[in-house]
Amino acid sequence: MCSDDPAAQQGLPVSVVADGGKAPSPAADSVLADLVAANRILYRHRVVDAFGHVSVRHPGSPGHFLLARNMAPGLVTPADIVTHELDGTPCDADGRGVYLERFIHGEIYARRPDVQSVIHSHAPAVVPFGIAAGAVLKPVWHMSAFLGLSTPVFEIRDHAGDATDLLIRDRGLGVALADCLDDHSVVLMRGHGATVAGASLKEAVYRAVFTQANAELQLQAQQLGEVNFLTPGECVTATSSVGSQVDRAWNLWKDEAMAGAVTS
Ligand code: MN
Repeated sequence: MCSDDPAAQQGLPVSVVADGGKAPSPAADSVLADLVAANRILYRHRVVDAFGHVSVRHPGSPGHFLLARNMAPGLVTPADIVTHELDGTPCDADGRGVYLERFIHGEIYARRPDVQSVIHSHAPAVVPFGIAAGAVLKPVWHMSAFLGLSTPVFEIRDHAGDATDLLIRDRGLGVALADCLDDHSVVLMRGHGATVAGASLKEAVYRAVFTQANAELQLQAQQLGEVNFLTPGECVTATSSVGSQVDRAWNLWKDEAMAGAVTS
């Protein structure tokens, strides 16, 4: 454990961070409900398990984002949502643990004003594409045309050496990851997982689910023979047409994921 970590010095779990800054007006209940639903959907679709997290930029304060406290996504309720500043400082955690890797979210929001939602996962299906030499995650069907011509891979060794725990533990690594994401929708993280960005919560959820599906299909297809990927033109056209249908997926997935869920 790092000796200059204030929480460690106080004998507290490293996930407990003092609140700072001024919390904006609370987000609407509907925003919290959708963020809870996103957590449940991603768990149901095996994008996240006990680990991984999803955030949404605060609709009334672009300098803040909403993210659950440190817990399994499948158990999140509205009461578990914590407001964070973009530098990762929680505003209202009130002693509850926060995610160690919250810097992934804040630094992508800081770099990308167009991004309204970020999802970080360890989805097993995508991991091979971050670790196999020469592998490139690319769209094999219209549902994942948003991947574009290639998916960048973040190499933490380039920024923090070869003895880290691979986690995005501070703002510097968050900035480096956001730089690697650049203007893409998805960045793979070597030996770790992936991070997905969307222009809305619904779009980010859609992209996370179909990134995983694309990884599964691409791996299957590559075992059969040379793969016929989408062309650049197909990526552009299919992204705009299929991407406009995210509500259809969201409405189904939310209904399934929230059936019987305790939401408060
Ligand atoms: Mn992680």
